[in-house]
Amino acid sequence: MQKELSIFTYNDLLQHYPFRHIDRTNVDTINGLTPANEYAYIAATLVSTQLIGDGRAKRLVAKFNDGTGIVESVWFQGIQWVQKMLVVGRKYLVFGKLGFFMGNPQIPHPELEASSEEKSQGKQHLEPIYPTTEKLKTRGITGKEFSSFIKQILLQIRENDFPENIPESIVKDYKLMGRLSAIQQIHFPNSEQHYKNALRRLKFEELLMAQLRVQLIKMERHRFSKGFIFKELGEAFNEFYAKHLPFSLTNAQKKVIKDIRADIATGKQMNRLLQGDVGSGKTIVALLCILATQHFHSLTELLQKMNIKVALLTGSVKGKARRLLLESVAAGDINILVGTHAVIEEKVVFKNLGFAVIDEQHKFGVAQRARLWNKNTLPPHILVMTATPIPRTLALTAYGDLDYSVMDELPPGRIPIVTYHKNESKRPEVMAFVRKQLEEGRQAYFIYPLIEESSKLDFENLMQGYQEVTSFFPEPKFYVSMVHGKLPPEQKETNMQRFVRNDTQIMVSTTVIEVGVNVPNATVMVIESAERFGLAQLHQLRGRVGRGGEKSYCVLLTSSKIGKESRERMSTMVATNDGFKIAEKDLELRGPGEIEGTRQSGALNFKLASIINDRAMLEVARTVAENILLQDNALELQEHQCIKNYLQKLKGKTKWSKIS
Ligand code: ADP
Ligand code: MG
Repeated sequence: MQKELSIFTYNDLLQHYPFRHIDRTNVDTINGLTPANEYAYIAATLVSTQLIGDGRAKRLVAKFNDGTGIVESVWFQGIQWVQKMLVVGRKYLVFGKLGFFMGNPQIPHPELEASSEEKSQGKQHLEPIYPTTEKLKTRGITGKEFSSFIKQILLQIRENDFPENIPESIVKDYKLMGRLSAIQQIHFPNSEQHYKNALRRLKFEELLMAQLRVQLIKMERHRFSKGFIFKELGEAFNEFYAKHLPFSLTNAQKKVIKDIRADIATGKQMNRLLQGDVGSGKTIVALLCILATQHFHSLTELLQKMNIKVALLTGSVKGKARRLLLESVAAGDINILVGTHAVIEEKVVFKNLGFAVIDEQHKFGVAQRARLWNKNTLPPHILVMTATPIPRTLALTAYGDLDYSVMDELPPGRIPIVTYHKNESKRPEVMAFVRKQLEEGRQAYFIYPLIEESSKLDFENLMQGYQEVTSFFPEPKFYVSMVHGKLPPEQKETNMQRFVRNDTQIMVSTTVIEVGVNVPNATVMVIESAERFGLAQLHQLRGRVGRGGEKSYCVLLTSSKIGKESRERMSTMVATNDGFKIAEKDLELRGPGEIEGTRQSGALNFKLASIINDRAMLEVARTVAENILLQDNALELQEHQCIKNYLQKLKGKTKWSKIS
């Protein structure tokens, strides 16, 4: 059980919940049975047994009568044993899957029990059905075994073994079942309603405790972590704001910058998640906070008239150039270092790192983020920017320990991208459409799936696609760039820049262009085998067009034979440009575990509660947790000891990192 189901203790075993129950609290009447009854449970007298056929077709047929009708049972196996046990004229409790043969009810291979006076009215409680695994089954631990283990434990536990962990007033206000009753009733409920109440109580407990935990972590960080104090706006900020800001900020941008400014002026270390859809303008926010961003080019361009040293560090900066760069960083000569994962390597030492921005959150693991904390004695302020809009409830649970800002507004003047879903068979039409756009002076993307960089077949498809595109749009009228993960970085950069400069009109690429490309003149994107991409990724890709003032298009090409889920993904993309709506749908289709960036968070591993179906309850739990901590942030009040004790016990069991 340890290996298969991570069950180490009795307590773990009690949290191995049944996935359904069978109701044998009441017996059915035979004349009331219909095909709508999946199971039948009757108390009836055995009126006859009969052996029919021989060899493999040999079977035993028994007829039971309960006064309202007759039901037939059939055995193909263990006939001798059953025959010995059955006594005509005696009353039995017969239970099993119900079938109908020529309109007559049948219960093949039923469970049988002799019925007595006190035992003719059915069971005291619903019977739990437990999940198990193939391996456990071969060792004799079936669902039935779980049932008997758990029954044994439940017979032995007392209130003290399972103390209430939710304060009395909350239990009362929210009409929650007591903890011990809930654990009994979720396994062996007296009725359907008891089960529902138990489930509600235990879900609420899960959600409340998770919320308390993340909020406590956040408070602790606020209380103890010290960060740089950036009290005043520097010269650079003022100069940039007054002279070089290329547009006026949206209200959303202003608000976020204010939040961040407030954070970093206090002396507490900032640890904030900024969520903003593709194209919402996160770059300028980052720049205005530290005058830095991942987009080396747009950043240098923005700062070209200012005396600020910006450098780029990637894996391809090698040899002497790298050594010199690292020296300048360590000496503090570089004001802003822009880079990839290379930046967090041990060898990169900063003179005084004060502010770190992590763009595109999901590409950065938890541990990697934590390493940034250690780049300075006083940890830098950290701003994590994500364009994968996670639904709010999910974000607040998964990242409840981070401060959180949303930019829910796009810069003005954006024209929504028009999205089409087309079958392979419509390819000629699609190509003609792209040609028309190109002839109007626009540029186009063709995106191919290369989900695993090593996949040979995908790579061949990409090359074939490149051939097709070049022959369809021949030189010298059109030129084509190609970018994929296998190209050397310099080559990739050159090809990309040619497209940026409009030296090439078409970009054939894998998802490597997902982030950071900004070509406002590109107005069409064709995504090949679009069914192979997830919703979040499709949305990210589509965000590469629609960046200028021109109307833009995204064409999702799929095979004509795609599944229901793929079809739903395509129709979602066609229906909306709103990243948050897309994220909601993504969550619905795939479940929270698969949403990028949240998998490792650990805060979403609920046994009973579901982030999707129990959202309303999650909101309530969050508010309750907030109120508890608002009133008593160290859980010192007598009435909160139950929570404190419970959380302390849990603490050893799960790992919570500094940054979730
Ligand atoms: P993302 O949030 O996806 O990183 P970017 O920062 O790349 O978005 O911004 C997308 C585009 O919008 C850029 O071309 C940028 O210059 C432009 N932009 C950002 N903020 C504004 C604004 N307030 N008004 C007009 N254009 C803006
Ligand atoms: Mg960006």
